[in-house]
Amino acid sequence: MTTGDYVTELRCTVCSASYPPATGRYTCPTCGEVGTLDVRYDYATIAKVLAPDHLALSTDRSMWRYRALLPVENSTKVTPLEVGGTPLVRAERLAGVLGVGRLRIKDEGRQPTGSLKDRASAVALARASQEGADVITTASTGNAAAALAGLAASTGQRAVIFVPDSAPEAKVAQLLAYAATVVLVEGNYDAAFRLCTEAVERFGWYNRNTGVNPYVGEGKKTVALEIAEQCGWRVPDAVFVGVGDGSIIGGVHKGFADALALGWTDRMPRLFGVQAAGSDFMVAAAEQSEDVRTKPPIDADTVADSISADLPRDRVKAAAAVSETDGAWIRVQDEDILSAIPLVAGLSGVFPEPAAAAPFAGLRIAVESGMVGADDDIVAISTGTGLKDVAGAMRGVELGGIEPIHLTPGADALKLLERGMKR
Ligand SMILES: *Cc1c(COP(=O)(O)O)cnc(C)c1O
Ligand SMILES: [Zn+2]
Repeated sequence: MTTGDYVTELRCTVCSASYPPATGRYTCPTCGEVGTLDVRYDYATIAKVLAPDHLALSTDRSMWRYRALLPVENSTKVTPLEVGGTPLVRAERLAGVLGVGRLRIKDEGRQPTGSLKDRASAVALARASQEGADVITTASTGNAAAALAGLAASTGQRAVIFVPDSAPEAKVAQLLAYAATVVLVEGNYDAAFRLCTEAVERFGWYNRNTGVNPYVGEGKKTVALEIAEQCGWRVPDAVFVGVGDGSIIGGVHKGFADALALGWTDRMPRLFGVQAAGSDFMVAAAEQSEDVRTKPPIDADTVADSISADLPRDRVKAAAAVSETDGAWIRVQDEDILSAIPLVAGLSGVFPEPAAAAPFAGLRIAVESGMVGADDDIVAISTGTGLKDVAGAMRGVELGGIEPIHLTPGADALKLLERGMKR
């Protein structure tokens, strides 16, 4: 079975060994789990079928407008739910408050299931149907699961989801509503991941897991292709991303690298990876010049559940994304993540979940410490909607001292309202 029309090989990110793009290949057999594979393409041929002027004429607003750059055959059906094509929102008021020249927010909360993970699951489902797999499985802190379950509901494919029993209620409700088989695993994401891996070995299901399946990161790169295209192919100075497993930032790197390799853009943006202080594997590795391939797992604990990871599965790609673009790793406190939710929502209209607010908390630190300048053109990715974690949003609102005005209808009500609004 072949892969996408233009895939040439899978290359190990650790030992550089090359493998044919065959069915069922996940990580490098020599390097084991750390040996994530990179999907390589024939850019010379892609350049003949895909170019900015073709794209300008394309009526497909979804991520599949970049199909020649994705590991899915042309004839493979994609999900009826439309993934991608999210807005790049100008956030002038927020830029003013944070002190940057220009700030735009890539609003991934507008995806069909509410997070950027839809891009990855769309590719996983297309690959599974191309490979004739009946059951697709993943372990997830919530959003990857919702993406797989929701998109599978749109195609009729069967999804089995392993979620930590600590996942926010809204996320679990979403999975159950999509009628996936939901397995709540006692413990954290890493416990769910291990159980899912065992199930894949036992039952031979299609494995969508982040950092294992080389194709899912390819879906994530379409967010960068969209950003570049929405910027008229003039890439921003810096892009800020929240990092858990490191798969999104790795995908963002790949997308900008694809655009550069094809000559659609003339440089790379600096990539800034933002992690919660309680889940700072990558930040700590960078600070202490530790090798991410051998650094032992940490014990992650953060309110931003979507970026909580003991051992980032895509740590090799994530480390390269930051170091090769002259970016930086930034650590942010949970309180600052939560406070960023009403800050971003109130000054831009984009409502992020905690993990999606983290890049803005990181941007604030980057400005204060001079990592980005007052004239810089910044894009921050709001990776998921605030509706996913209402409790997190309420805590952010309380930290900001933001309160509703309580009124009892009656003669004084509007007078009290006037007084309340002056506060
Ligand atoms: C998954 C996720 C992230 C982090 O992506 P990684 O690939 O795990 O680094 C950030 N924000 C949201 C909303 C997510 O769902
Ligand atoms: Zn290898």
